[in-house]
Amino acid sequence: MALLAPPIPSQLPEFAQHYLSRTKQLYIDGKFVDAQSGKTFPVFNPATGEILAEVAEGDVADINLAVAAARRAFESKAWSGLPPSQRARLIDKLADKLEERLEDFALLESLDNGKPLAVARVADVPMSVDNLRYMAGWATKILGDSIPIAGDFHAYTRREPIGVVGQIIPWNFPLLMAAWKLGPALAAGCTIVLKPAEQTPLSALLLAEIAAEVGFPPGVLNVVPGYGETAGAALAEHPDVDKVAFTGSTEVGKIIVRAAAGNLKKVTLELGGKSPNIIFADADVAQATQGAAFGIFFNMGQCCTAGSRLFVERSVFDEVTHGIAAAAKAMNVGHGLDARTDIGPLVSDEQLARVTGYIESGIAEGARTLSGGARVGDRGYFVEPTVIVDAKPHMKIMREEIFGPVVAATPFDDPNEILGAANDTVYGLAAGVWTKDVSKAHKVAAALRAGTVWVNCYNVFDPALPFGGFKQSGWGREMSHNALECYTETKSVVVKL
Ligand code: NAP
Ligand code: MG
Repeated sequence: MALLAPPIPSQLPEFAQHYLSRTKQLYIDGKFVDAQSGKTFPVFNPATGEILAEVAEGDVADINLAVAAARRAFESKAWSGLPPSQRARLIDKLADKLEERLEDFALLESLDNGKPLAVARVADVPMSVDNLRYMAGWATKILGDSIPIAGDFHAYTRREPIGVVGQIIPWNFPLLMAAWKLGPALAAGCTIVLKPAEQTPLSALLLAEIAAEVGFPPGVLNVVPGYGETAGAALAEHPDVDKVAFTGSTEVGKIIVRAAAGNLKKVTLELGGKSPNIIFADADVAQATQGAAFGIFFNMGQCCTAGSRLFVERSVFDEVTHGIAAAAKAMNVGHGLDARTDIGPLVSDEQLARVTGYIESGIAEGARTLSGGARVGDRGYFVEPTVIVDAKPHMKIMREEIFGPVVAATPFDDPNEILGAANDTVYGLAAGVWTKDVSKAHKVAAALRAGTVWVNCYNVFDPALPFGGFKQSGWGREMSHNALECYTETKSVVVKL
């Protein structure tokens, strides 16, 4: 598979040139500042491997300053003490500004992460806007209960903000993950220290700029890019942080839980997945094939929900797998800014090595590729969309999260036994079911141990829908009213009458 030529535009669009020419600073207490150490780190363009920008490298000292600023903003009630309608208005203004700057954000996201610009325009940025607007609506609807209890008492509950929250996010949807986390925290009245992924800190920093413009009080939102092992770890273990919300690998999720134990801060986790996508012979096979391809290749497979284990009833197995392979071969691999691109680069050289390593391990263990399987070009981090067959349940490619455009397809004969195979994973984030039999669809949806089950569709999200994992895919839920609950404490008040 050849890389689209020319692989990169000769000159970046004007906004990016201007924005990226200056070293990006940390955003602490309403000001853009250098790191205390004076250090910076490079951010790479995954399409070329070249340095895109220099970013101030936050570390323990900067996290301490950011947490102190967030604490002051919380204790002063500069945010939680505002009338809820004013909090809602500011979150709405942030959403409006984000929408106004859609092109700039989409461009940064494409350059930083590698994803097609067209996708960032219709998915990442508008979905972030939508999430903020949805959560703005909740700010005025955080209610307690009036509870009849025994005796002469008036009892009620209040839902109060948890306090200072640390939010640690990954690189696959940098802006959207920030919006998922900021929205409910801001609506609830919490103050925030956000640490974006070292690979993709740019859109979160631009978000901080527009938050400052729309008038968020200093300290309410702080953004501290830096490395996970330093800045991230400092935030997760900080004794003055009341809650940490994390999205990323299950491995680091476990480190976060241990770090949080020091002050028993509240923890929510959105972790990895190895999601089963099950196609029954009675499905609309053409639609299911297309859906399965989308389910694995969207965002170059760098989705925690990626439908990476495909189970297909034997009578339609060849039709489906050859259909996905044909779709894979027809995809254009190229630079995110090229309008013809379907598949951009993976985010980093580390991720390139990881994904190609998994493909090699699958082949070494006896699986075979029906399409793809190789790196594309020798510059940038491109990998072919890959369909693997003959994988066995014990193989690494069937058990571990690959986080790349690689699907392993397995035929099944007995529809009653497929649930055992589908649930045979430590993960439980998402699953897909394709069938025209309504009864079967609901029975299978109920039996799958996953936080989201898509029937005759895949990767459908909405701010009103809870999202999160069973088993080792996480704790708590994002989006929806459930997310809001994860940023509040319930207080019972009992009054003697
Ligand atoms: P990761 O290490 O889990 O990174 C996620 C976030 O956690 C980043 O902001 C990272 O900072 C931070 N972090 C790392 N170590 C930390 C620590 N000790 N304490 C506090 N924070 C820490 O993920 P990755 O290394 O980028 O990717 C590895 C694999 O994780 C992927 O191949 C994929 O399987 C999985 N993953 C899953 C998701 C998801 O949405 N569920 C997202 C991304 C990755 P730095 O970026 O600075 O290290
Ligand atoms: Mg990492």
